[in-house]
Amino acid sequence: MEFLQPATWPEALAMKAAHPEAVPIAGGTDVMVDINFDRTRPAAIIDLTRVAELEEWGSDDGLLRIGAGVTYTRIIDELSDRLPGLAMASRTVGSPQIRNRGTVGGNLGSASPAGDAHPPLLASDGLVELASAGGSRRLPAREFYTGPKRNAMRGDELIAAFLVEPAKGPQQFSKVGTRNAMVIAVCSFALALDAERRHIGTGIGSAAPTPVSAADAESFMEGVLDEAGLWETPRDVDESALKRFGELVAAAARPIDDVRGTAAYRKHALAVLARRSFTWAWDEYRRTAP
Ligand SMILES: Cc1cc2nc3c(=O)[nH]c(=O)nc-3n(C[C@H](O)[C@H](O)[C@H](O)COP(=O)(O)OP(=O)(O)OC[C@H]3O[C@@H](n4cnc5c(N)ncnc54)[C@H](O)[C@@H]3O)c2cc1C
Repeated sequence: MEFLQPATWPEALAMKAAHPEAVPIAGGTDVMVDINFDRTRPAAIIDLTRVAELEEWGSDDGLLRIGAGVTYTRIIDELSDRLPGLAMASRTVGSPQIRNRGTVGGNLGSASPAGDAHPPLLASDGLVELASAGGSRRLPAREFYTGPKRNAMRGDELIAAFLVEPAKGPQQFSKVGTRNAMVIAVCSFALALDAERRHIGTGIGSAAPTPVSAADAESFMEGVLDEAGLWETPRDVDESALKRFGELVAAAARPIDDVRGTAAYRKHALAVLARRSFTWAWDEYRRTAP
């Protein structure tokens, strides 16, 4: 196995251009599992852990641009106030050891439908920045996931960063699993309220071939809040509207029966998660709205 170890980002991109078959490794919490279980034996590996640029985050034209190599632990420690939904999701990832090594870039690279970073990125309309030696491009997260464990990255590209707007309202993430920690989601749901744009964002994990959003649920709830003037004068949202929101979230899922749960259970659980998440987020909005 050839082991490539770039020290800079331009060097990493040049190596990927010269070896499109090479598998990048960041925290290694997915890659090493596959190698250890002999599921894959790559001819070459590009170790990205020495590329300092991937570990930086900062502001970029009103968005937060977060390097692909920023770990879950750092997202929790450094970005909880600006990205509460992603921080909540990060807290549910694996164990402290996995959170210390694992990165959102790696979650995007694996593109597992069960990856916990995806629903919050979808709910906040995040972007994924892909780069090659020839230049870079930014794709909406909603277009990045192309199939189970497949994404829109080309062979000569690497994930440079992801970009998200700092929260413009309450955010939530919830996940159903068979125990409280170290668990792959049976299903998960993320919600982001954007009080400035009067927008509701959603993300669903582990309940379709890719992470997905629930567009009909989003526009339904936006309509409910607008019609009743609830953004301006926040009051309780009707039970019937909450129920419908849950149904529309469940309807956006395309789950399968597998060892972790049945399709029917996943749909039921998503409707519950959606209603609860909205209630928690709306309660917070009511408490904090100007
Ligand atoms: C015990 C255990 C528990 C886990 N629990 C969870 C959990 O609760 N939730 C969850 O979502 N995941 C979980 N995972 C999976 C894993 O930790 C996450 O997917 C993590 O985000 C992977 O990040 P990494 O940096 O370790 O990626 P790596 O293993 O280094 O890479 C993963 C994939 O991304 C690619 N890649 C990495 N960086 C780049 C880049 N910059 N550009 C292009 N491609 C890149 C790699 O080639 C590979 O295909 C768990 C794993 C283990 C072993």
